[in-house]
Amino acid sequence: MSKYSKIALSLGGNTGDPVAAFDAAAAALTAAGLRHVCRSSHFRTEPVDCAPGTPPFCNAALTGEWPGSAGELLACCQRLEVAAGRPAEHGFHTPRPLDLDIICFGDEIIRTPVLTVPHPRAQERRFVLQPLAEIAPDMRFADSGLTVREALLRLDGCNQNDFMLY
Ligand code: ATP
Ligand code: CA
Ligand code: CA
Repeated sequence: MSKYSKIALSLGGNTGDPVAAFDAAAAALTAAGLRHVCRSSHFRTEPVDCAPGTPPFCNAALTGEWPGSAGELLACCQRLEVAAGRPAEHGFHTPRPLDLDIICFGDEIIRTPVLTVPHPRAQERRFVLQPLAEIAPDMRFADSGLTVREALLRLDGCNQNDFMLY
């Protein structure tokens, strides 16, 4: 019997039809073995660390139970990004139809040249935490020990604005 890990992904996109890309990604992840998939609402967010004129993003979160390794999940996510039309070679923070980041992988802390989990910038990003708090407020970041709700509350201290739904 394979060992399932509770995982959280952040989904983003700011070209084409991001919601359709998220639907296709969720279906493909399910076909690849992800079970008990839970998805957040879709939020419209302003670009962070992007060139001036970058279109707004659609952001969402997804949780589920993955039967394989974190490396296998990353490979699957990267295949789906390319299938959605994102060039495999791309500039940092450039517009893209689909970006899939692994936010948490069970209680694992992973630091390899190609994969850092928990995602190193997730706990500072409202566009990651707010969607994830809808579906997994009690999920805990293995490195800081904070829950998603606690990490979001820390950010809310400096920014009380609500995101708009997409
Ligand atoms: P950011 O990581 O700041 O959100 P980005 O998503 O735009 O930026 P990408 O160009 O999509 O960055 O990813 C660059 C590389 O990050 C990927 O090739 C992948 O190997 C690596 N990476 C490291 N940790 C993770 C993670 N937790 N989830 C997804 N990719 C990761
Ligand atoms: Ca990202
Ligand atoms: Ca990414």
